[in-house]
Amino acid sequence: PAVIVAIDGPSGTGKSSTSRAVAARLGMSFLDTGAQYRAMTWWMTGNGVDVSDPSAVAALARKPAIVSGTDPKAPTITVDGADASGPIRTPEVTANVSAVSAVPEVREVITGLQRSIAASAPHGIVVEGRDIGTTVLPDADVKIFLTASAEARAARRSGELGATTGAAVAATKEALIQRDAADSTRKASPLAKAADATEIDTTDLTLAQVIDRIVALVEE
Ligand code: C5P
Repeated sequence: PAVIVAIDGPSGTGKSSTSRAVAARLGMSFLDTGAQYRAMTWWMTGNGVDVSDPSAVAALARKPAIVSGTDPKAPTITVDGADASGPIRTPEVTANVSAVSAVPEVREVITGLQRSIAASAPHGIVVEGRDIGTTVLPDADVKIFLTASAEARAARRSGELGATTGAAVAATKEALIQRDAADSTRKASPLAKAADATEIDTTDLTLAQVIDRIVALVEE
């Protein structure tokens, strides 16, 4: 049977780069579940939905058609047929995504997509997110929980965003800490380490070292 690998953890731990590389090395599919929540958020804000109102978000959660392309070398995401890969990375989406993803109806819709994508990946799949090992795919064959110090995570995220000044790095760190706190304390399947997940602290590891460790765990 096809192998399922769940990789969870907060932002800035190198989760996406690591997960993509592991999937590519092992010839498996790749799913970025954060991109799905971002796509839902982009659709909501683009359609004038008040994302601070959970009932407004819940009422429309089934409307957008969110489609993920799972080739780790060229992952894609579309909403109602439109390429969403650029727009889902804007600061506006990042600022609103925790509120949208805390709505249970949103999680129900997106979790359903995730399970059907994972079930139909012929050569297995690496799924990265916040609640994959605990809630979405609790029977995953390999579960990884990535962590890193707040400093390391802020530095990585700042690098991705091109923030260079001390103030920009500090603001990035603050936003990241707030988003992780919101993601960890919401009622509906919060960011959490599964009891049977292997935790890897990436603070002092290179990307290549983290990839090698996970590939070794999958091949065990
Ligand atoms: O991974 P990324 O930073 O793109 O995720 C964006 C947001 O999507 C997270 O901050 C979180 O609010 C939400 N998310 C989630 N469950 C997942 C993946 C992401 O709630 N499995």
